[in-house]
Amino acid sequence: MLRTALLLFALALVLPGAVKKDPFGRTPAGEAVDIYTLSNAAGLEARVMTYGATVVSLKSPDKAGKKADVLLGFDSLDGYLKEQPYMGAIVGRYGNRIAKGQFALNGKTYKLAVNNGPNALHGGLRGFDKRVWAAEAKADSVVFKYSSANGEEGYPGKLDVTVTYTITNSSELRIDYRALADQDTVANLTNHAYFNLSGEPTILNHLVQLEADRFTPVDSNLIPTGEIRSVAGTPFDFRRETTVGTNINAKDEQITFGKGYDHNWVLNGTPGTLRKIATVYSPQSGRLLTVSTTEPGVQFYTGNFLDGSLTGKSGRKYIQRSGLCLETQHYPNSPNQPTFPSTVVKKGVPMTSTTVWQLKMLP
Ligand code: BGC
Repeated sequence: MLRTALLLFALALVLPGAVKKDPFGRTPAGEAVDIYTLSNAAGLEARVMTYGATVVSLKSPDKAGKKADVLLGFDSLDGYLKEQPYMGAIVGRYGNRIAKGQFALNGKTYKLAVNNGPNALHGGLRGFDKRVWAAEAKADSVVFKYSSANGEEGYPGKLDVTVTYTITNSSELRIDYRALADQDTVANLTNHAYFNLSGEPTILNHLVQLEADRFTPVDSNLIPTGEIRSVAGTPFDFRRETTVGTNINAKDEQITFGKGYDHNWVLNGTPGTLRKIATVYSPQSGRLLTVSTTEPGVQFYTGNFLDGSLTGKSGRKYIQRSGLCLETQHYPNSPNQPTFPSTVVKKGVPMTSTTVWQLKMLP
């Protein structure tokens, strides 16, 4: 037993990951969609498809060594083609909300597709999550490319986007983002995976820790007010590992606006530096997710708008709080908030960022 474990550990250190490609279906427009399976010797397996550059599944062992999928989603392409809340997808050109779907840049006002009350959300009516990306497999990674046309969903400039998923020998899925514009524009790229590390109906028993002393309060439309507020003494204090369910129904205006957690935390440390920003631990399964990023913020969203109407993998109904998202990002509505870190992508100057999910198990 011990010898096998040691052998697997040694193999995990020396063996590169493997990548396999399969067809996954067609869009209604007839575009072929492929799915790539990335695996490593430590037992982590990610499946990523060209529709939305979406992570379809992420399998990892639990404390008993039993492998299971820790992401919400669908068994086949059909589920992803229907109306659904960005499960596992890359969102862009601008992740999260832009107030009233408009912003000014270099003295010109741009009007975006409005798709969330009065606001633009996650790139508009047909964002990056609903596009078929080009893909190229490498030894232990898949490089996805999408070229967003000038004026698409109202955004200025052509934006060439590359998202690379890499499986590492440290049980990580690493996501590298790069975007290059042919004129000044704005961008905010993230992945919208919903995690459930235990397979229980909700994530209320998960323990979350966030490296964030502050967050950005919102108005009733979930637009940040511009204030940067300390988490001390609020239900938003996750500086120490805290069970998600502890304060999620607190009598608090911010909780009411979000219907739970649906806010941007201002991450400690230096943006641009890859640093550990969050952990999620399920005592039930023993799985520990560690998130690192170069981004200045993270949207911690507890699946508040899931209402049981979606049937997902293995016929499971996705009820409220059945998954949680940690969307590493720039702050929502930054194009209209000059005090927030800038989301402007200058013509010819590549924008890059990295986020890493590590999945381990604790005994
Ligand atoms: C937003 C939520 C939204 C969800 C799914 C999150 O990033 O902040 O308000 O409901 O995505 O669209």
